[in-house]
Amino acid sequence: MLTYTHEPFTNFSDENNKKAFQDSLSFVQSQLGKDYPVVIGGEEITTDKKIVSINPANKDEIIGTVSMASQELAEKAMQAALTTFETWKNWKPEHRANILFRAAAILRRRKHEFSGYLVKEAGKPWKEADADTAEAIDFIEYYGRQMMKIKDGMPVQSRVGEFNQFHYIPLGVGIIISPFNFPLAIMAGTTVAAIVSGNTVLLKPANSTPIIAAKFVELMHEAGLPKGVLNFVPGSGAEIGDYLVDHPKTRFVSFTGSREVGCRINERAAKVQPGQIWLKRVIAEMGGKDTVVVDKDADLDLAASSIVYSAFGFSGQKCSAGSRAVVHQDVYEEVLEKAAALTKTLSLGNPEDVDTYMGPVIDEKSFKKIMNYIEVGKQEGRLVTGGEGDDSKGYFIQPTIFADLDEKSRLMQEEIFGPVVAFCKARDFDHMMEIANNTDYGLTGALISNSREHIERARQEFHVGNLYFNRTCTGAIVGYQPFGGFNMSGTDSKAGGPDYLLLHMQAKTTSEML
Ligand code: NAP
Repeated sequence: MLTYTHEPFTNFSDENNKKAFQDSLSFVQSQLGKDYPVVIGGEEITTDKKIVSINPANKDEIIGTVSMASQELAEKAMQAALTTFETWKNWKPEHRANILFRAAAILRRRKHEFSGYLVKEAGKPWKEADADTAEAIDFIEYYGRQMMKIKDGMPVQSRVGEFNQFHYIPLGVGIIISPFNFPLAIMAGTTVAAIVSGNTVLLKPANSTPIIAAKFVELMHEAGLPKGVLNFVPGSGAEIGDYLVDHPKTRFVSFTGSREVGCRINERAAKVQPGQIWLKRVIAEMGGKDTVVVDKDADLDLAASSIVYSAFGFSGQKCSAGSRAVVHQDVYEEVLEKAAALTKTLSLGNPEDVDTYMGPVIDEKSFKKIMNYIEVGKQEGRLVTGGEGDDSKGYFIQPTIFADLDEKSRLMQEEIFGPVVAFCKARDFDHMMEIANNTDYGLTGALISNSREHIERARQEFHVGNLYFNRTCTGAIVGYQPFGGFNMSGTDSKAGGPDYLLLHMQAKTTSEML
């Protein structure tokens, strides 16, 4: 098998690629309005209660409808997953991995089609959609390969007259709860990691992006996944989310989303329910308040572009988004000026146009929340550029910069999850590190610096799960930059890393006398 390398991004300046992507968008357009079922034990179940998925760039356009699972159906799915676990856990790891390799191959072939759904359903511009699909392919391919590496366990010592072995077995039924912002990559990655490790799962996608998840479930079955391994239960987080997290037969929960919901899941999962014979495992990857730090001897153009692209890629709706810039006082005004000038060149508009840099935010709730933070920013700091929103057709908000924020202000402390970046002035490098570490979070960060000493100090002192030097703080690649955060950013599960699958397994030691 060739060495793993990540899926390349599509070059849209090539006319052939551009045409292929446009054709895929037309194909997706022709598929709009379809209805997708709940899938339990391979059975497709249509319910009366629907999630209506809309295009956030064009509120009048319905992407499709998805049947919602009630608590009764969630229970039925749990029973299907429990039954299937008894056979799936005995499948040879290489046979489970082969299904992932087939799935990765199918997704590679239908790459632009899936990206087309991401443009339509999540409002992702072409490049962001393409990167989301590439990351999904990477997760599927990489976890298949990782399973092959750990399938025989780890070597342990044996004394004379004994034979010791140490290997990993699956956990049981897992609940996968995924967010809207990487509706393909994170949803698929968390699902296949659990599956290839020998578990069966119930997948609850985010309510704003259920269609892309439904398409992925179809694809996994096309790739040969047996019925009942992956059960699809779209529905209300509050209704079936709580029910499944509390369920005594749930063995683990793999959650990615907000701090609020992650903490709730962690707390509920900790309570041992009647009939429960294990402590549930919780993987919770949550929010961020990520910082780009600019040193006084930095390349200032690089600093400005790192700030701007970290802040505004996918309208700031990334957990890794750089929503704070902490800049040395000597270069503060110059970096701010350069960042503002670059921000003014970014195009905000329809994500279906190849030239659009930024599309809409995901929904009305997000729009209102972000616009409220913009009002807070006007009180707390100085509006430099942007600040306007327009929700007449879709949920569009200008890329927005605020300057002169106090390091403890709300804009500097709270996750906004929109296209807003706060600038804060620092006295010296000590002060920069102090501000960089002054939130409850610890997900990503970047230092732009030409000082070897400062780079090495930040490597030690900048307390984030993913730290980058002289680049953006977004864009981790599966198998290259394993991803996950400290503190209230989560359990640091390091998605796309060499030890990720082990979180979905338990180790068994056997010792036989010879
Ligand atoms: P969210 O509102 O927390 O939702 C995430 C998922 O949780 C959705 O499927 C949601 O379902 C579900 N949910 C809601 N209430 C629940 C409950 N009581 N029990 C179980 N599940 C429940 O997050 P989001 O807005 O989709 O995503 C944005 C957040 O995710 C940001 O905070 C971002 O930083 C974080 N994020 C973190 C990472 C990371 O790796 N650290 C990666 C991506 C995103 P509904 O849609 O039905 O509400």
